[in-house]
Amino acid sequence: MLIEIKDLRKKYIMGDIEVEALRGVNLNIQQNEFVSIMGPSGSGKSTLMNILGCLDNPSSGQYIFDSVDVSLLNDDELSEIRNQKIGFIFQTFNLLPKLSALQNVELPLIYAGYDKHERREIAREALDKMGLSSRADHKPNELSGGQRQRVAIARALATKPGIILADEPTGNLDSKTGNEIMALFRELNEEGNTIILITHEPEIAEYADRAIIIKDGLIISDKPTSGNTAEVLSENSLTS
Ligand code: ADP
Ligand code: MG
Repeated sequence: MLIEIKDLRKKYIMGDIEVEALRGVNLNIQQNEFVSIMGPSGSGKSTLMNILGCLDNPSSGQYIFDSVDVSLLNDDELSEIRNQKIGFIFQTFNLLPKLSALQNVELPLIYAGYDKHERREIAREALDKMGLSSRADHKPNELSGGQRQRVAIARALATKPGIILADEPTGNLDSKTGNEIMALFRELNEEGNTIILITHEPEIAEYADRAIIIKDGLIISDKPTSGNTAEVLSENSLTS
């Protein structure tokens, strides 16, 4: 098992206001699964993703990543997981605007301690795999949305993390480009990557093999995808 989560809870406290974003989540994900997590806005998807990615701590409950209890890790061990074992992909791409596509892809390799020559080579290869060789020296604002997301995917994969956490990766793309990105995720999954995809679009969730639905901080459905995701969503009137 790659991910084991038991009774996970997360409370945000802002002055007198307390929001319980996750209210007892149990979840197991195996190596090489392709899982989608769906639910309306505010249901706790990003909170769960941030905890899965060791970007944030739960208030209580257990998170075991790759057989290690994450709560027992020190800051260095946590950043090693974040920098080398997990590739993050976001709706807004999160590329650095002043750096070229190639330099963006090189960034995680700097943190991982590769020398300049190795970095260049790995980054060029990653861009090549995304069909972006000819865009290596372009800045993000000289690229289309789909190209930007592919640079972000190349960056996420540069350290060969094995697990990809994607939070609404198609949210800023038109549906044709979104489908191209999802086809790419399918390929990456077939090559052995574990993929956890957050989306509120049922058609996008269908690319995964397993669809989890979260509502008000709880998992209310967890099934293999079989073309019935849209039905489950409308049953629970979750369409946002
Ligand atoms: P989703 O990604 O499904 O839209 P989130 O995980 O972002 O949901 O949010 C779940 C709940 O937690 C919401 O009520 C949201 O307002 C609240 N929340 C999320 N992040 C924070 C934060 N940093 N501080 C306070 N409340 C937050
Ligand atoms: Mg979110």
